[in-house]
Amino acid sequence: MDYFNYVDNKLYCENVPVEDIVKRAGSPCYIYSVNTVREHYQKLYSAFSALNPLICFSIKNCNNTEIISELVQLGSGIDTVSGGEIYLARKAGTPSEKIVFAGIGKTDEEISYALDQEIGIFNVESEAEFENISRLAGQKGKRIKVALRVTPDVVDEKTHDKTKTGYKGSKFGVDIDRAIEFFETYGNDPYVSLSGIHIHIGSPIYSPQPYEIAIKKILALITELEKKGHTIDIFDIGGGYSADYEKGKSSSFEEFASVIVPLLKPRADKGMQVIMEPGRTITGNAGILVTKVVYIKDNGDKKFAIVDTGMHHLIRPALYEASHFMWPVDRKHYVNEGRNIGHSAEDLIKYDVVGPICESSDYLARDRYLPPAQKGDLIAIFTAGAYGMVMASNYNATLKPAEVMVDKDTAYIIRERETLDDLTRLNTKRALEI
Ligand SMILES: *Cc1c(COP(=O)(O)O)cnc(C)c1O
Repeated sequence: MDYFNYVDNKLYCENVPVEDIVKRAGSPCYIYSVNTVREHYQKLYSAFSALNPLICFSIKNCNNTEIISELVQLGSGIDTVSGGEIYLARKAGTPSEKIVFAGIGKTDEEISYALDQEIGIFNVESEAEFENISRLAGQKGKRIKVALRVTPDVVDEKTHDKTKTGYKGSKFGVDIDRAIEFFETYGNDPYVSLSGIHIHIGSPIYSPQPYEIAIKKILALITELEKKGHTIDIFDIGGGYSADYEKGKSSSFEEFASVIVPLLKPRADKGMQVIMEPGRTITGNAGILVTKVVYIKDNGDKKFAIVDTGMHHLIRPALYEASHFMWPVDRKHYVNEGRNIGHSAEDLIKYDVVGPICESSDYLARDRYLPPAQKGDLIAIFTAGAYGMVMASNYNATLKPAEVMVDKDTAYIIRERETLDDLTRLNTKRALEI
């Protein structure tokens, strides 16, 4: 669900017409519905409430501090994968004990920073990293909590190759058959309490079954570890729950919960802390990217809608072959309530929707049926709230768009649109003292 709706054929974000926002914030621009974010968090929490989970929103998908702080106010923790993300989480007011820190390449600087910030849990992904964290914690005289990231050798075949993570041989975590040895080697470290298991099987995952298989494997592993005298009181089941790229194509929170909750409830009742790291399922549908048509090009058998955004602002189509539903902000009579990407009808026209970047991979949609478009039309690209702005770049010396957050009747600018000055702001010529 989300609060982007057409009223009298004009697109609204909550109670504000999208066209009015673009008049003020410029095109292109990212627009977020904060009540969609809040509701997704609350509905996810209630679906899993029997586990009393700590939900750690994964901010790599959407990291504007105004949006993070909304989630933090609802009780969310934050899943981070870099020192920069820990910094943003703290800026947004996240209590340090609700921050988890994953990632295979944590540097000494990042680990020291995380230790100084006294974050809750490190999700450790290798022996070398464990030893390094122990060394640095020892230097600071701290004792910290660590969960071992395990790859359970589970994949959802519908997940794109570039976002699969849970298979044997992936660069993440340690293979499940090496987990016991890991605990035997490091289970009694003086500075690190190795007391949890972390999994993240990839994303997006469209149905509960991959979680069911992975969680059952990990529960069996935990039983084995307990037999050997280890205590596992944290199970972080990761993220990946899909967003609705088309209406109703992903399982609901209740459907995920109906499979996952019964598996974990007996242990949660005995005190095991369940952690979840949702990202896109909270924010994906809460954001759109609005763009203006710059030209229509009719190249014989292909028609192009050339727009003022592209892979430099939304790279998912170019990087993952992702499909985003898009439709005019003023739709006249052309209705597609199901946000059905394959929708075709006689009075629609087939376009390749492309950006201005000098790369042939710079497209937003191929062979997409859309209402006839002309120069100046605004098009909303839906489900752009996750992995949108965070992956934007200045390639071709383009400027990053503004971000706007709507709360009922009010639209707030939460990140200014960049200006030409920003392109040279960090440039300098200064002799290095070597
Ligand atoms: C990316 C990531 C997530 C979130 O993935 P979503 O698909 O946005 O839910 C959660 N945990 C880890 C470790 C990740 O790398």
